[in-house]
Amino acid sequence: MSFQGSSFRPLVVIDNKEIREKFNEFKNRGMNARGRSTTRIPRAMVTFGTDDGAITDKTHLLPITRATGIGMVNAVIPTRVQAGNHLTLADLQTMQAEGWEITSHTWSHADLITLTDAESEEEIRKAAEWIEANGFGGRTLCIPYGHYGDREKLIAQKYHRAVRVSNTDAKLTINKTPIPTFELKSLWFSNLTTIDAAAGFPLNSFERYKWWIDKVVAEGGWLVLFTHGWEIAEWGASQLLTDVINYAKTVADIVTFNEGLDRMDNVMESGLYSNNYERGYDPHFAMSMDGKISSNYQLITKIKKNEIKSTMLPMDFENQTITLCNVDSTQTGWPMLPGGYKAGVLTTYAIQPIGATWDIGYYWQEFKPYGTVSSTRFIRSAKDGENLWHPWTRWDPSVTINARINTYTAATLPNELPVGFRIQCCVNSANSTGMPAAATGLFIIDTTGLANSSPTDFGFVYQEYHRYATNEVWRRVATNGTTWSSWQKLSYVST
Ligand SMILES: [Zn+2]
Repeated sequence: MSFQGSSFRPLVVIDNKEIREKFNEFKNRGMNARGRSTTRIPRAMVTFGTDDGAITDKTHLLPITRATGIGMVNAVIPTRVQAGNHLTLADLQTMQAEGWEITSHTWSHADLITLTDAESEEEIRKAAEWIEANGFGGRTLCIPYGHYGDREKLIAQKYHRAVRVSNTDAKLTINKTPIPTFELKSLWFSNLTTIDAAAGFPLNSFERYKWWIDKVVAEGGWLVLFTHGWEIAEWGASQLLTDVINYAKTVADIVTFNEGLDRMDNVMESGLYSNNYERGYDPHFAMSMDGKISSNYQLITKIKKNEIKSTMLPMDFENQTITLCNVDSTQTGWPMLPGGYKAGVLTTYAIQPIGATWDIGYYWQEFKPYGTVSSTRFIRSAKDGENLWHPWTRWDPSVTINARINTYTAATLPNELPVGFRIQCCVNSANSTGMPAAATGLFIIDTTGLANSSPTDFGFVYQEYHRYATNEVWRRVATNGTTWSSWQKLSYVST
């Protein structure tokens, strides 16, 4: 069986009873009926964990968790338990009894992406079953070597609550709502002196871990810090780890994967949700416990009337959003039409590539005036590289309107006409009141001058009346927004 073609499927199919139970669970967590958080998101969370289940987890990490009073996650390889310099079943039971979470690191630490479909599933399934059969509570798969694909994510969903991967981009290090449940990102302990480009401190310095912990506290979310017990032993880094745990304890909640998921797992998530930049366009839908949504299906946000102001800058709009807002004529700063500010619908497109943070030349706004006969729109784009808008540009897809017969009469005032058009309208004799001849004719109205100069300069507006089946033509001009001149017969047409 191949997973490559499975682009979109629901993670879970739930019946009514399950919906009810889920709903009650949300209410208990402080959710209202619409799934929105009625309380603040819980304190920032930090998870500490180790991979491989080496004996050094007992000799070097267990003393630290005992001293600091926390539980770590241990991702173990069932085929190595009791073998060589690895922990025994009894060791793992002791750890679990002391608050550790024992979870899967696959059956034999295989490089999953090199395996066949069946082999990859066996590696994941057998380890998950071993964890459960031996009474361990971990339900999160920790991927060996950080090597995984869609196939592994989909297989893991059959046996696990979540998957932890290694981190690929500093901007994704902290897991935020909606969390990528099957791609939880992790930060790794290191003994290198290389500078962490995001934090600005050496990889092996306390300051680096403090910087990341402070960041998750400031921004909210879940920081997953992993190591190997054998590395801590080899590097003599017990004190560093102790210091980091002690610092994290003072500002954040230390949780295992299960505890973190209990607080922050998503309300719903499709199988291939990813917040990796290159994967964020794959078909997905994820909704977090605090009501945030990620999807490649574009979501349109409706904003309360007049809440968007003309002074708002491009960066005031969150990337990957389209917002709709009604504005009424009390609002200033929007494009002006004859008679002043008009009500209208404002649409803001904040669409720059996923992961980009300063590519706002992609942002633009569109203002559609209320009730105009025309298809007039105004558009402004964000400036390239500046958090500013260009001036509004008027945009009319066509300047010619072929109006139905008798749509316009001589009584229509200049400021009642659609702006920026040449309108052609037949008039029959019964509707020719006010025309220069009481006869059928072709009525031509030109308001393009209002669009090309000032929208209040009505001297550019004129009308012509071409009498049916003759060469007789009259013309009149607007002298202001509510007054027409008298009709004048055009001199070059002789009668
Ligand atoms: Zn490993």
